[in-house]
Amino acid sequence: MVRVRFAPSPTGMLHVGSLRSGLYNYLFARHMGGACILRIEDTDQVRFVEGAEQNILEMFAWAGIEFDEGPHVGGAYGPYRQSERTAIYREHAQFLIERGTAYYAFDTAEELERMRERQQQAGIAPKYDRSSMRNQFTLGEEETKRLLESGTDRVIRLFVPLTGETRTSDIVRGESVFANRTIDDQILLKSDGFPTYHLANIVDDHLMEITHVIRGEEWLPSLPKHVILYDAFGWDRPQFAHLPLLLSPERKKLSKRDGDVAVSDYKEKGFLPEALVNFVALLGWNPTADREIFPMEEMISMFDLAKVNKAGAIFDIEKLNWMNGMYLRELPVERLAADMQPFMEQAGFNGVDPAYAAKVVNLVKERIHFVKDIPLFADYMFGPVKNFDEEYAAKHWKPETAGQMLELADRLETLDEANWITEKIDGVVRAHAESLGISAGKLIHPMRLSITGKRVGAGMFETMEVLGRTESLTRLRAYAQR
Ligand code: GLU
Repeated sequence: MVRVRFAPSPTGMLHVGSLRSGLYNYLFARHMGGACILRIEDTDQVRFVEGAEQNILEMFAWAGIEFDEGPHVGGAYGPYRQSERTAIYREHAQFLIERGTAYYAFDTAEELERMRERQQQAGIAPKYDRSSMRNQFTLGEEETKRLLESGTDRVIRLFVPLTGETRTSDIVRGESVFANRTIDDQILLKSDGFPTYHLANIVDDHLMEITHVIRGEEWLPSLPKHVILYDAFGWDRPQFAHLPLLLSPERKKLSKRDGDVAVSDYKEKGFLPEALVNFVALLGWNPTADREIFPMEEMISMFDLAKVNKAGAIFDIEKLNWMNGMYLRELPVERLAADMQPFMEQAGFNGVDPAYAAKVVNLVKERIHFVKDIPLFADYMFGPVKNFDEEYAAKHWKPETAGQMLELADRLETLDEANWITEKIDGVVRAHAESLGISAGKLIHPMRLSITGKRVGAGMFETMEVLGRTESLTRLRAYAQR
C-alpha cells in the first residue's frame, strides 16, 4: 500500500510551497488509495517557532486537506511529533555505530571552524575531514572509550565511503550520480542528544513505512546523503519525487519580497480555499492543457506524479485572483456566506440571518472578486445607507423626482409581501414610467440612489426583493422627503 507523509518543520507560518507539498502528498495518496500522514519535524530547538504547528494544522483544515494519521486540530495529538520520539533516534544512531556505518567525533566548534578556514584557504569545498579531525578513527579505540565515559561532548557522524559513487533516482528528476568524495560525513546525532533532520527523517520514513517521499526541490541536495543513510541502515529506500521551485514572475525563488507567501495571508485576504488549492496544485503539474479549474475530487482522480514538471513554477497572483472569481461563481452561496462571516464581523454587521446573508451573496457575487468585499460593496443590505453619492444625486435627482418617487412608493405598496418579487416590482416600475411618459431608466437611477446610496450595484429589482418590501418602501420615501 502507498504511504506518504507531509513532514513540515514548525519554523514559521505555513508557506504556500509547503501547502503544495502537502497537497501533492494528499492527492497522490487518495489517488492510489493509500495513506497520507502528517509528521511534525520539530527536533530543531533553535528554529522552533511558537504557534507554527497550530498554524500548519489550521491551514490544512481550512484548505480541506485531511491527513490519515498524526495530530488533529482540536483532538488529542497523535504519535507523530519528532520531539516525542528522540529516544528512537538515539537508539538508531547507536545501531549505526555498531554496524560501523557511523562514528563518534569530538571536535569543538573552534576546531571545526579552523578546519573550514584551512579548506577555504586551500580552495577546497568545505567537508568534514575524517583523517585529521578528532574522531573515533584518529583517536583510537581506547581514547574514544575514555572520552565517551568522561561525558565529553560528542556527535555521531555518518560514515560516507571516500571512493565510489552514489546513484539516486527521482520520479521527477530521473537518475543522478554523485562521487562519494563530494558527500559530507553528515552529523546524525548532535551533542545535545537530538537528531539532525536527516537522521530523524530517514528513521521515521522507514519506521512509518513510507513508500514515496514527495517534497520540495530544496531537499534534492540532501538526497545522496539520504540514500547513503538508507544503505548504512541496510534498509530499502522509498521512491523520491522532488517538486519544482516556486518562482516569482521575475523567475527568482519566491520570497516575501514578492508578496504574501504564508497561506494565512491568503485566508485573511479573503481567498477561497478551493481557489488557492486549485491554484497551488497547478504550480508544477498540469492534468490537461485545455482548462484550469479542477475541483479536489477531479484532481484526486487525475493526479499523476510522473506528470510533475521539473521546471520552476511561476506564482502568478493574477491567475489566483481570476481563479478566486471562478470559484466565487461556482460555490454554493451558503458556503460563501459562511466564509463571509468573519468579514461581516469586521465591518460591524453582527447577528445577520445566515439565509439572508446567502441571498445577498447570490445577489452580488457576479460583481465582486472576493467574499470579503461583500460587506463593503453591499453595506446597504446589512444596515441603513450611510452615505449618499452626491455627484450621482446631482445628476439624477431633478425637481420633479421626489414626487415621482413618492407616487412610485404608493404604487409599489399595492404589491403585498407575497408579490414582492423581482418580476412584479419590475412591472410596477415600468407601468409608472409609462404613465409619466419617461423611460424606466429615469426612475431607476433615483431609486438606486434612495435605496442603496450608490451608483453601482446588483439589479435594482432583485436588490429590492432581497431587501424586502417594508425597508425598500421606507427608503424610497425617506430619501424623497429628506
Ligand atoms: N522537515 C522538512 C521540511 O520542513 C521535511 C522535508 C522532507 O519532506 O523530507 O521541509
